[in-house]
Amino acid sequence: MSMPDAMPLPGVGEELKQAKEIEDAEKYSFMATVTKAPKKQIQFADDMQEFSRFPTKTGRRSLSRSISQSSTDSYSSAASYTDSSDDEVSPREKQQTNSKGSSTFCVKNIKQAEFGRREIEIAEQDMSALISLRKRAQGEKPLAGAKIVGCTHITAQTAVLIETLCALGAQCRWSACNIYSTQNEVAAALAEAGVAVFAWKGESEDDFWWCIDRCVNMDGWQANMILDDGGDLTHWVYKKYPNVFKKIRGIVEESVTGVHRLYQLSKAGKLCVPAMNVNDSVTKQKFDNLYCCRESILDGLKRTTDVMFGGKQVVVCGYGEVGKGCCAALKALGAIVYITEIDPICALQACMDGFRVVKLNEVIRQVDVVITCTGNKNVVTREHLDRMKNSCIVCNMGHSNTEIDVTSLRTPELTWERVRSQVDHVIWPDGKRVVLLAEGRLLNLSCSTVPTFVLSITATTQALALIELYNAPEGRYKQDVYLLPKKMDEYVASLHLPSFDAHLTELTDDQAKYLGLNKNGPFKPNYYRY
Ligand code: NAD
Repeated sequence: MSMPDAMPLPGVGEELKQAKEIEDAEKYSFMATVTKAPKKQIQFADDMQEFSRFPTKTGRRSLSRSISQSSTDSYSSAASYTDSSDDEVSPREKQQTNSKGSSTFCVKNIKQAEFGRREIEIAEQDMSALISLRKRAQGEKPLAGAKIVGCTHITAQTAVLIETLCALGAQCRWSACNIYSTQNEVAAALAEAGVAVFAWKGESEDDFWWCIDRCVNMDGWQANMILDDGGDLTHWVYKKYPNVFKKIRGIVEESVTGVHRLYQLSKAGKLCVPAMNVNDSVTKQKFDNLYCCRESILDGLKRTTDVMFGGKQVVVCGYGEVGKGCCAALKALGAIVYITEIDPICALQACMDGFRVVKLNEVIRQVDVVITCTGNKNVVTREHLDRMKNSCIVCNMGHSNTEIDVTSLRTPELTWERVRSQVDHVIWPDGKRVVLLAEGRLLNLSCSTVPTFVLSITATTQALALIELYNAPEGRYKQDVYLLPKKMDEYVASLHLPSFDAHLTELTDDQAKYLGLNKNGPFKPNYYRY
């Protein structure tokens, strides 16, 4: 999310102040005393997007509000070993119990739990920071008494996060933030382990809201923390159960979209609890966006097209974090990469990195691959598509599926041929074919998996944000949106260093004094850009 300097992020000034206080008091440990959050005045979010109606248990009518695309800027493994067609009976109509006799969950098939457990164990191997958090907090239980209601992708990696939160003392109820991304066997494993999970792959929109509702609306159990990815859960609570906010100590939000909604609430004076913007944490943005895409762009392209990159001409639209990651991978394989940019700073970076910065029109006839990474809309128009050469591959790595004007291709003179899963040949009357991947949706999420290690960094940031908000003494956070204090960002990074056997240099007393730093960090001012 980019914001001009002149327009400070709400909460940042406060965060700076708090970070300083925290630094002074060296309060950053799990030792922080759990203090009761003050009761907040509940303000109802009248101006937020309306949910069309409250779903009933049996209702199947689709809700008119479309499901947030926010899930597309956070990551899940697209792979699931089961698909939604393996059993036509809706999980809502099944009676299922786990081996301990509990039926407080709704998943596709509880019998897949063992398989899901193996998936979670595999993910754990690359999420050592969360495992080490579990170990460090074994005696302390910094989330004891926390009742976390979560709405995220439900994948093996998220399961590691959820189970870490439970190990730290929390009780969790969970639903999926995306109707397609749930790994059914993983949801089953969580249910078997006693987590109240309500999710399956291929939910209808009605199911989606029903699952969220089952997490929030429960006799004798009231959430006091929210972990959201996209803001749908948060807004469900705002609209349907505003009283729940009397007990909520904080919201942790991961996605660009969800964070944007929180800032809107804050601006309107309607945010009634503190919220942590994880999306703009350095350990999210600089890792998820850059390294995740560097690792997964080629995977997505190769799985779908078997293309060879050496010598191929590729144009990448947008040289932000995602674009930089994609270009680095493409360059490494010997592709000739062109960049389009609107921002002179990013354009200059591209030049200095050895790429030609061009207008899309200048190269559209000659390129073999077009990749959008802008977060903008109509970057590739029908006119561009008309001028592409035969067999040109077109795909998108940005959040929205409107970067490529796919709608303009649904006209009678063009023929669509589905040649593989997620691969369409769009054929012009003269026989020219354009290879469109994932119908213009995020390529890596739709056609490949993303690296567990990157997800580990984001998940650790989320866990620490929850611990911080839950344990913060009264008054540290107000009804505003905060960035995770720098020191915690640094802590997340430091937890991941042992995986590389990396050894940090320690400042000498003299050096610390010279630089005006605390030897234990934070090592950079908040305005440092990395
Ligand atoms: P960013 O803001 O750092 O970069 C986007 C760049 O696109 C900017 O430099 C901007 O100047 C440029 N741009 C905007 N409009 C343009 C246009 N019409 N033509 C050319 N350039 C243009 O954002 P980012 O972190 O790189 O994220 C980009 C998109 O990717 C977002 O939608 C984000 O949600 C999404 N995302 C995807 C993944 C993934 O795994 N696929 C991961 C993280 C983020």
